[in-house]
Amino acid sequence: MTQTAGKTALVTGASRGIGAAIARRLAAEGVLVAVHYGRCKADAEETVASIEQAGGQAFAIRADLAADDALDTLFSELATGLAGRPLNILVNNAAIYADPDDPAAAQADGYVAGISEVTQEEFDRIFSVNVRAPFFVTQRCLPLLADGGRIVNISSAVTRIAWPLLPYAMSKGALEIMAPRLANELGHRGITVNTIAPGITDNTKTNTWLHDMPGAAEGVAAMTALRRLGQPSDIADVVALLASDEARWVTGQLVDASGGMALA
Ligand code: NDP
Repeated sequence: MTQTAGKTALVTGASRGIGAAIARRLAAEGVLVAVHYGRCKADAEETVASIEQAGGQAFAIRADLAADDALDTLFSELATGLAGRPLNILVNNAAIYADPDDPAAAQADGYVAGISEVTQEEFDRIFSVNVRAPFFVTQRCLPLLADGGRIVNISSAVTRIAWPLLPYAMSKGALEIMAPRLANELGHRGITVNTIAPGITDNTKTNTWLHDMPGAAEGVAAMTALRRLGQPSDIADVVALLASDEARWVTGQLVDASGGMALA
């Protein structure tokens, strides 16, 4: 389908969940994938191993996107892994919902925190990983990115549906602003820039509440027009589509990939 074989990709936050599914999906197309991660080396190595076992090519690169030296670390390791090849696909997927260093905020309670419970430190941390990092990762990728390249940003249906997670939702709103503007700026090089907005997705390592809370999975499935829980592979398939040559005429767009969650 896709003519992506032989290309290269950087997927941020690919150690687990949706990012890992994106990495596996692109690798299955014959793409050499840089599996970026922050803290979970074992998970990143598992993603790389699963790609290699399936006959694909990948390498893991670590960089804490909240750290000041994140970009130098990331791009030094990326250059080593690409070994002189250009980059064809950038997927800005890594994000946090709450401050992972704040045990209370990082628990399920943090996901429903009202404005009064959010600290400035947590707000800044969320914006540094979810907004500042994709902005500057993209900036640093531009000299490496081949003409005809693809940039896909992963947002969330929370920009459309007024659930809690206020700083997280605000950060995704900021991320969504990038695609149309960058599409205009980079279109002369044939580079497309799009955003995918998943709904609640069955990520067993992050969305544990879906399986721990009785009725949660069924309740979330009932909120979708398609009446089931979204899987990471549902999002990965849309990334692969936007990364493909078939999607060459689609740019600057926000693509909802939520199974029709909470449609008006
Ligand atoms: P996970 O929480 O499962 O994984 C997040 C990934 O981002 C991990 O690989 C993690 O790496 C990485 N990451 C987080 N913080 C940092 C950091 N400071 N530096 C470097 N890497 C970091 O996320 P999901 O799979 O649930 O979500 C993936 C994307 O999809 C996100 O953009 C999210 O907002 C979006 N989304 C998810 C939904 C869902 O229901 N799951 C719904 C809508 C949107 P490590 O663990 O190694 O630190």
